[in-house]
Amino acid sequence: MRYHSTRGHPSTPGFSDILLGGLAPDGGLYLPEHYPHVSEHELSSWRGLTYAELAAEILKKFASDIPVADLEALTAKTYTAQAYCNGRVDQDASQITPLRTLEQSEGRQLILQSLSNGPTLAFKDMAMQLLGNLFEYTLQKQSGELNIFGATSGDTGSAAEYAMRGKRGIRVFMLSPHQKMSAFQSAQMFSLQDPNIFNIAVEGVFDDCQDMVKAVSNDLAFKEKQKIGTVNSINWARVVAQVIYYFRGYLSATSNNQQQVSFTVPSGNFGNICAGHIARMMGLPIRKLIVATNENDVLHEFFQTGVYRVRKSAETLHTSSPSMDISKASNFERFVFDLLDGDSARVAALFKKVETHGGFNLSGRAGSDGDEFAKVGNFGFGSGKSTHQDRLKTIRDADTRYRLTIDTHTADGIKVAREHWEPQIPMIVLETALPAKFNETIREALGRDAERPAGFEHIESLPQRFDVMAPDVAEIKRYIAQHTGL
Ligand SMILES: *Cc1c(COP(=O)(O)O)cnc(C)c1O
Repeated sequence: MRYHSTRGHPSTPGFSDILLGGLAPDGGLYLPEHYPHVSEHELSSWRGLTYAELAAEILKKFASDIPVADLEALTAKTYTAQAYCNGRVDQDASQITPLRTLEQSEGRQLILQSLSNGPTLAFKDMAMQLLGNLFEYTLQKQSGELNIFGATSGDTGSAAEYAMRGKRGIRVFMLSPHQKMSAFQSAQMFSLQDPNIFNIAVEGVFDDCQDMVKAVSNDLAFKEKQKIGTVNSINWARVVAQVIYYFRGYLSATSNNQQQVSFTVPSGNFGNICAGHIARMMGLPIRKLIVATNENDVLHEFFQTGVYRVRKSAETLHTSSPSMDISKASNFERFVFDLLDGDSARVAALFKKVETHGGFNLSGRAGSDGDEFAKVGNFGFGSGKSTHQDRLKTIRDADTRYRLTIDTHTADGIKVAREHWEPQIPMIVLETALPAKFNETIREALGRDAERPAGFEHIESLPQRFDVMAPDVAEIKRYIAQHTGL
């Protein structure tokens, strides 16, 4: 399996070549040259597999340059009940992403698929844990080193640190805005004592952190010398790892391959639902893929109108589902490439226009950049939006009707799923975090604290290890060089 850029760059690297990288050389995103097809027979034979076995079957199709036995060992090491046991007591950890039927009436079924039972209590662990093991494996083969450098306002940074802690050849340098994350989130990251994890609290806001990462990434000489890599949401291996749980969800919710299901996905950077799109392109019988956004509704706007209009920082709202607070959706280009039938010249032009004009228009109306919006339905996509008030209402509703405390992002998903569920088609909502991570809003909605999984009761009082720094690019470069010794 070879990969190519959505913007048409002539190189066609393999899976291992793009594993540690980010964007393609022309600024595009990598996609496989074709989507592997899963036959009906194969899908049936997957019904009895464990999560780890299923993961290996799917990875084999995408990572053809890694020996099959090694992939099997890597997924067996990653997807263990022990690593995914943070779920509620009523769930079976060995299932890794257990399903729970919330509601069943008049032939309609609403199902929640738990993706947040990993070490940091958010779905990002599903992919990041695998990435940690894949990185270590690849680096050992090349006797290489990798220094992951990034900025976080919450879920991504902690998922990366828990995936990379103690891994040979890997260090993580993670910037976060000093005293701007929740006490729970900073405690999760800062309580890590592993010598290969470096937490840097920047005296500024998240944008300052991101600017520092950009400045360092633009210094190619420094980046090369210090072996700097990233694990942001455009990383192809992360997307592939997410494809697995769509298959798992489908297989668990159905008993034969004639049945269809729909998924609703709380979305920000379009990484999670992009994996659903790929699963569907591979032949998984998915009827609809519903994008759920919060007040930052860039994606909802596109799926309603065909207009993609990115927001300025000042227009990007801080909401109570903060992991979906995006100004543009970094994985969206992968879907646009398929929507445009692989016309990379047009994709390149459209995303150039995003930079120069803040967006593009595929509505087909006079003056638009194309009429492909009419084809969006062929890919199963639909969308909806949820606000803070909706979130509170949905959290209360789930508490009364299902005796279940849901997190704010999952609440956005359930609210939107209800607007799209159809008779005879199970609607699976992806649960993206546990409520303990966003306790402030749980309190506002329910007047009590969210329950904490075992082991997290006193996380805020654990000793913390982090350095405070001014938003100074020269300073962070010195810091990295000093700790890598490179
Ligand atoms: C990252 C995240 C999302 C958004 O996922 P995307 O892949 O960026 O669309 C939703 N919910 C939670 C809890 C997250 O951490």
